[in-house]
Amino acid sequence: MSELPAGVEAVIGLEVHAELLTRSKIFCSCSAAFGGPANTNVCPVCLGMPGVLPVLNRRVVEFAIRAGLATQCAIAPRSRYARKNYFYPDLPKGYQISMYELPLCTGGHLGVLVDGEVKRIGLTRIHMEEDTGKNIHDAHGDASLVDFNRSGVPLLEIVSEPDMRSVAEAGAYLRTLRSILQYLEICDGNMEEGSFRCDANVSVRPAGSTALGTKVEIKNMNSFRSVEKAIAYEARRQAEAIRHGDRLVQETRLWDAEREETRPMRSKEYAHDYRYFPEPDLLPLVVDPAWVDEIRGTLPELPGPRRERFARDYQLSTYDADVLTQRKDVADYFEAGLAAGAPPKEMANWVMTELLRIVRDEKLDHQLVIRDWPVTPTQLARLVQLVARGAVNRNTAKGLIPRLRGTGRDPEELVAAEGLAQVSDRSALDAAVADVIARHPAQVAEFRSGKERVIGFLVGQVMKSTGGKANPHLVQEPPRAALAR
Ligand SMILES: [Zn+2]
Repeated sequence: MSELPAGVEAVIGLEVHAELLTRSKIFCSCSAAFGGPANTNVCPVCLGMPGVLPVLNRRVVEFAIRAGLATQCAIAPRSRYARKNYFYPDLPKGYQISMYELPLCTGGHLGVLVDGEVKRIGLTRIHMEEDTGKNIHDAHGDASLVDFNRSGVPLLEIVSEPDMRSVAEAGAYLRTLRSILQYLEICDGNMEEGSFRCDANVSVRPAGSTALGTKVEIKNMNSFRSVEKAIAYEARRQAEAIRHGDRLVQETRLWDAEREETRPMRSKEYAHDYRYFPEPDLLPLVVDPAWVDEIRGTLPELPGPRRERFARDYQLSTYDADVLTQRKDVADYFEAGLAAGAPPKEMANWVMTELLRIVRDEKLDHQLVIRDWPVTPTQLARLVQLVARGAVNRNTAKGLIPRLRGTGRDPEELVAAEGLAQVSDRSALDAAVADVIARHPAQVAEFRSGKERVIGFLVGQVMKSTGGKANPHLVQEPPRAALAR
């Protein structure tokens, strides 16, 4: 981390809460959908009424096993739910059903790409738990409301080992983890809507030391950017405190995005002792190894292996292969284009520059799966082929994307119908050149008197007179040759 003084290193562990995309909640049949009018997706179970009993949603366990297998965790044949006790208005039962000493998944790892190198980050555990409701503080400050729609929505808690040493590694870990959950189609990864949340444990120590310094937990970060800024700020603050000989206290701090600093949580805001004990309303969770094998058989090719395959089989740079495989739908789109005959390098180039620009501008990637692509993979593949064989120039091709959108038309047919084919025909070019020379005697005279730069103007005029359709590689020479005569 460049912001830290020389000789000091940061030690970072991340704890992610990922909301699972099941239709119903973890212990009742209420809808787990995001949003909706307040307190409409609720029942006595998720409102924590006395006397009700939780019934486990099998799908939640399946999704947790998917996540565990995709991150090389061991799946415990026997695990157990536990009660985490604390008081807060968004937690109607006074406890959260979570897992504690016997989690479902343990001991995995992720391969994270940082500066072109893959670094392995260990995973301590993955377990299931229920989400809480949401407090809504009235704008006037005289009332606090609670929406219980989120109460009982299934969560995965994914805890990393303190294996990260820089902001870049922490950012890459988070993006990789999100990408894997999205590939598995178990979490939409939307940080702004809170379906992918992250707390960070940060400490600093002399570089090369193996002892751990005093750890601070940071909460309240709701974007990748704020996680990165908060970790950088906190590591600097701790290094500074040590330099001044101040004692650091183990505490929880909140990230203040507005002031860009962390500040201590008031002690009332967190409990010191959750008094965990085994959840008496649920049996221990016994997972049949045959079921685990069955789930293993349904896992898709994951982003890391897919990136390596793209780089190897299509001769792409690691960077390009990474950009193309971060999202499964983008990687699928790219490969569909290749299946339609596009050369890999050109297809990669068009997807990365033109297509992903439109996708980002229109926020199409805010959905888990992009449905409204600007053009189909086959249309883009045809367009790429037209450019590759010189039938249209790149600019004309770019301009065709919005006109092809939603039409299903073949780009070649559109080019023919509208006379957009690139002018590569020598005699047509020569005629355009002769015309430009005839119409600009002053510039021609300047060129002949030695002003080389005027050639740029004349070439531009030739491009203009062909409606931008001239082959840019062919248009450079003719004016020069004509003037030399
Ligand atoms: Zn319910």
